[in-house]
Amino acid sequence: MQLPLIDTFGRTHNNLRISVTDRCNIRCFYCMPAENVQFMPRNDLLTFEEIERFVRIVVPWGVDKLRLTGGEPLVRRDLPVLVEKLAAIEGIRDIGVTTNGILLAEQAQDLYDAGLRRLNVSLDALNADKFREVTRRDGYEKVIEGIHAAQAAGFRPVKVNAVSIRGITESEIVGFGHFARETGCEVRFIEYMPLDADAAWEREKVLFAAEIIEKLSQELRPLVPLANQDPRAPATDYEFDDGVGRIGFIASVSRPFCMSCNRFRLTADGKLRNCLFSLEETDIRALLRGGGSDAEIIQAVRDSILEKKEGHEINTARFVQPARPMYSIGG
Ligand code: SF4
Repeated sequence: MQLPLIDTFGRTHNNLRISVTDRCNIRCFYCMPAENVQFMPRNDLLTFEEIERFVRIVVPWGVDKLRLTGGEPLVRRDLPVLVEKLAAIEGIRDIGVTTNGILLAEQAQDLYDAGLRRLNVSLDALNADKFREVTRRDGYEKVIEGIHAAQAAGFRPVKVNAVSIRGITESEIVGFGHFARETGCEVRFIEYMPLDADAAWEREKVLFAAEIIEKLSQELRPLVPLANQDPRAPATDYEFDDGVGRIGFIASVSRPFCMSCNRFRLTADGKLRNCLFSLEETDIRALLRGGGSDAEIIQAVRDSILEKKEGHEINTARFVQPARPMYSIGG
């Protein structure tokens, strides 16, 4: 193996998140504009062959974990074909997908058969009205149906990512606690981050992990942290004190985990981002389509990793929200 992709803070990057499209079939207000979304022309999107080539280039440098994101990845036609290609690459030990679940019931089995083993479903509400309020579209029942189809296909556990926003999804917290206990899904509460297309994020709207832990412990059962957690994983995991139901927290704002970050991202139009909040990007697509050699491409990757900042600066006066919104970066 070549040298690992280490940045100037000593962090090793083995986890690549690949956005396969910026298109989505819902309109979550903390991510997308309500109307007139400008999606990328299809020819701007990396082909499956280009994504596969890029992954084959970075694997010898220690990348062994992939996550496919969007927009909504399941709207990209033939996604199981890409999963199969990537799962066949020697050195890749782990592939995950983050989906909004709307199309999951139809695709769960094919994705599982293609070699996918990890699935995160983004769901912020446990009733159709609140779902519509957050996503500005219908589809709640389809998501629940999709989760059941995923469990039937063999995905265990299905992880459910719920963005926690004060005054909007707060009412869903205890319901998600019961949901985790009754369905076997691992629920992760994600602190609301400033990546929305309308740049309307407010710190006052962030519901902190500590508050959610307290609410669940008081209104349901005490939560206890799990032992032996992966220090590089973004989530901190807990279970209820009777061992029934697991809850995780991705506390990017109140407990930043940047110093153990192992992630970098490739956007659907082939731009490399060394951090979710990066203000700079490296044009990998131009190299892929412009006759760039594997050596030139990996050098561009290494340069980007070496330029990576210590962490997001959300909690500082220096913070600048990236121009590219969440749906065009992928979680
Ligand atoms: S904000 Fe950037 S550095 Fe921090 S954990 Fe996320 S991707 Fe890593």
